[in-house]
Amino acid sequence: MRKCAGWAVCTVALIVLAGVLNPSRAHPALVVRVTPLALRQGEVAQVIVRAQVPLSTIQLSFRNRSWPLYRVQREWHTFLGTDPTSPSGRLPIVVEAFTIRGERIVVHRTLTVRKVSFPVRRLTFDPSKQPLLSPEVAELEQRRVREALRVLASEPLWTGPFLVPVQGEILSPYGVLNIYQGQVWGFHRGIDLAAQAGAPVRAGNHGIVRLAEALPLSGNAILLDHGLGIVTSYLHLSQINVSPGQRVKRGEIIGLVGSTGLATGPHLHWGMRVNGVHVNPLPWTR
Ligand SMILES: [Zn+2]
Repeated sequence: MRKCAGWAVCTVALIVLAGVLNPSRAHPALVVRVTPLALRQGEVAQVIVRAQVPLSTIQLSFRNRSWPLYRVQREWHTFLGTDPTSPSGRLPIVVEAFTIRGERIVVHRTLTVRKVSFPVRRLTFDPSKQPLLSPEVAELEQRRVREALRVLASEPLWTGPFLVPVQGEILSPYGVLNIYQGQVWGFHRGIDLAAQAGAPVRAGNHGIVRLAEALPLSGNAILLDHGLGIVTSYLHLSQINVSPGQRVKRGEIIGLVGSTGLATGPHLHWGMRVNGVHVNPLPWTR
């Protein structure tokens, strides 16, 4: 039998072997905390990874994709978003890291996602809005939004709970299945708040403006970057008061309510993205 070249190499071999034989074993060098351990579709879990040894690389996968890990002092933080398309049940979270000595560490966790029965909403738009319902328009708009959100703040900019941007009843909740002109359009990626045209719209929290322009479907739109992959959107505005790159404070008036884009009347659509997933913003206001 070949001997190990040295102590370090033997250790690496043993750690890798242990990982293969028992991948769910908690590794003392890497502590992974998931909060909460169970949630409903549309909600968000926070993952905090603390390493007891210096690492050269670390990555986290969940729902068949990798999630950005943000360095916060000696820890790595991320938020895992879920939406109405997330499968329900116990979903695996895998954290894989390499130490600076080349040791591979794998930690497995699970997040329990509970299914929600989201209602259906049927809307009929004025025939003049029909051209907006083409897939090309949606693709064009999504491309523009992706471009605006390409670089986001890697430190948390928000503090405390988010503010509901306008005072008004919820016309349409998060997650409802939208049927436009008799066709399935997709789930509602935020909440619609009732407000009069011209009512002030306030920033949900401190952040940096990443997009402030007219889009075909969202109308006059503002996207605020709150750091660590958290972005809020304010759509269908009659007026935009901010510009890209500008820093805004929680509660600051950033625009006015309107009905621009694909809207049947004045209201504010308020949405939240968490690392690209459209989640329910309301739990963040409590
Ligand atoms: Zn909406």
